[in-house]
Amino acid sequence: LSEKSVIDKGQPEHSVITTCAYCGVGCSFKAEMKGDELVRMTPWKGGQANHGHSCVKGRFAFGYASHKDRLKHPMIRESIDQPWREVGWQEAIEFAARRLREVQQQHGRNSVGGITSSRCTNEETYLVQKLVRAALGTNNTDTCARVCHSPTGYGLKMTLGESAGTQDFDSVMQSDCILVIGANPTDAHPVFGSLLRKRLRQGAKLIVADPRYIDLLDSPHTDEALHLPIRPGANVALVNALAHVIVTEGLEDQDFIATRCAPEEYAAWRDFIIDPCHAPEAMSAVIGVPAENLREAARLYATAGNGAIYYGLGVTEHSQGSTTVMGIANLAMVTGNIGRPGVGVNPLRGQNNVQGSCDMGSFPHELPGYQPVTDGAVRARFEAVWGAGLDAEPGLRIPGMFDAAIEGRFKAMYVQGEDIAQSDPNTQHVEAALRSLELLIVQDIFLNETAKFAHVILPGASFLEKNGTFTNAERRINRVRRVMAPLAGKEDWEVTMALSNALGYPMDYRHPSEIMDEIASLTPSFAGVSYDRLERMGSIQWPCNDEHPEGMPIMHGDSFPIGEGRMVVTEFIPTIERVSEAFPLLLTTGRILSQYNVGAQTRRTDNNVWHSEDVLEIHPHDASARGIADGQPVNIQSRTGSTVLRARHSQRMQPGVVYTTFHFPHSGANVITTDNSDWATNCPEYKVTAVQVTGTTDL
Ligand code: SF4
Repeated sequence: LSEKSVIDKGQPEHSVITTCAYCGVGCSFKAEMKGDELVRMTPWKGGQANHGHSCVKGRFAFGYASHKDRLKHPMIRESIDQPWREVGWQEAIEFAARRLREVQQQHGRNSVGGITSSRCTNEETYLVQKLVRAALGTNNTDTCARVCHSPTGYGLKMTLGESAGTQDFDSVMQSDCILVIGANPTDAHPVFGSLLRKRLRQGAKLIVADPRYIDLLDSPHTDEALHLPIRPGANVALVNALAHVIVTEGLEDQDFIATRCAPEEYAAWRDFIIDPCHAPEAMSAVIGVPAENLREAARLYATAGNGAIYYGLGVTEHSQGSTTVMGIANLAMVTGNIGRPGVGVNPLRGQNNVQGSCDMGSFPHELPGYQPVTDGAVRARFEAVWGAGLDAEPGLRIPGMFDAAIEGRFKAMYVQGEDIAQSDPNTQHVEAALRSLELLIVQDIFLNETAKFAHVILPGASFLEKNGTFTNAERRINRVRRVMAPLAGKEDWEVTMALSNALGYPMDYRHPSEIMDEIASLTPSFAGVSYDRLERMGSIQWPCNDEHPEGMPIMHGDSFPIGEGRMVVTEFIPTIERVSEAFPLLLTTGRILSQYNVGAQTRRTDNNVWHSEDVLEIHPHDASARGIADGQPVNIQSRTGSTVLRARHSQRMQPGVVYTTFHFPHSGANVITTDNSDWATNCPEYKVTAVQVTGTTDL
């Protein structure tokens, strides 16, 4: 249907090369135009991340950009019980700026903050955090990556010294053993999933650690693939058990450890990991996998040759997400699987610009390039270029902003491109926080759930309407090129710039390339990045500087940015979310190929043909114990709330674990998720919720 509707629009007259705005693969496309109309998105063979391949999202799901629901005019209102009033850009910007200053005068400098988006460009993200820090004078800035890959940023920096994946995608073609933990690449990162399957067809071994049986396990030539159907919440026990086998069976890479790893940290970690309490036999019941399968997986990964680890949100969105990331880095270091093609630690980023939004200084404790705000020399360099004094105190994370709002200490928020009311956990808590704000400024392409609590709406531009860059999961900076004029007249960076100017902090950029030049001047890992170089090279994988003028596809070849790799003791502390008589099942969540995240874009396209509702997958054993028929509506009750979905009997699930996607508002997934979060980064524990499921008649 989609193919036909696209082709019927006729032959294109010209095309523009740009980058897909869905997942972290970052595929390049030719946007083919007839006049002002986009008639087709054709995967571009010159794309260095996708080599001419694409999936059903990037190829077909672009119709949302011209959907009737798009916001075309700024709107304001004094309070959220009043109707919206359409106004011009100038009035909306002046209203927002005046109210921000009034809130600060009444409640203090730190009563305001801003949230950046992993859907927006690097340049737009950089400007929002700059506005918050330089114009508003606070470090209360955070990114929606808080709720997905913040543990990656923390865990990889602590162990390998850089908050990023180690390899380029093509590296997988030299892997001998591929260990996938908590990721579903064929649905969530389809073009990389296809590449992975290609390597499996050539004979690479596959281990999948996931509570659910995923499609990758059905790939050709994977008869001997190992599925470790772990219990949700047991990731740290899993990586510790694998490491225990590697160390106690003498499968360590002694040469790598001696030359590349910090000896004191390694010794402490080794003492910790050889304790029999980590042995597969001791932890099998907790992990939910037979001990012999854990031993087989550890031996395979350590001895197959090139062992590569790919992981996703099934690792990060846990109360011990950061600990698991560090445990994964430990596994790679102890086996010497770092620093060459075919190996490495590879986070599969969910959104198109998760890597970039983190790189650009969105975190409340870090300026662009992960440079700490607490470092006086770092601040001085930014202060000299920005012409503003900077606060040395780290600001609030998103959950901290919500808590402070409910306590009356936080009063105004500027949110760019993030539907926090729908995508953050414990919806009731989030809505209470948003309702208590005196000023909420929402910049988005649709009137989303968060907008219900807003006082100012600033229409956003779709990826087709802007210039800039995205950085994908392999640190590849890709150009985003304007294909058509912004529907509401402004690109997002122009809106932020106008708001800053109205606040009295001048910004004067004529093009996003000038913003990138400023980023390069302040961020050592981006020092060599410019639009000219991007045009010449097609894309650049950071770090790009005097030392690495062509960028760096594979990191940590000879050394780590911190000198030696740091093994970290990873103690397993079970989540406080437990099953009980009242809540005997564990709910975990994921995505499906044709839809994307909370569905704001894909639901407004023909991709609904493939998937038009979220369902609850439940093992037939659990269903029959509750008298639940296949297709029957069920009530899902957690300690936090309840929702109703249609049940689907599924052998993919293990008994005791149920699963749903969260692409449609009716799923109510975040009504039932808890407040638990990662101990280091506050990334929510979306992946473990104790629930009861009962049959009902109404959907
Ligand atoms: Fe877009 Fe990801 Fe699909 Fe590539 S794999 S087309 S980046 S959604």
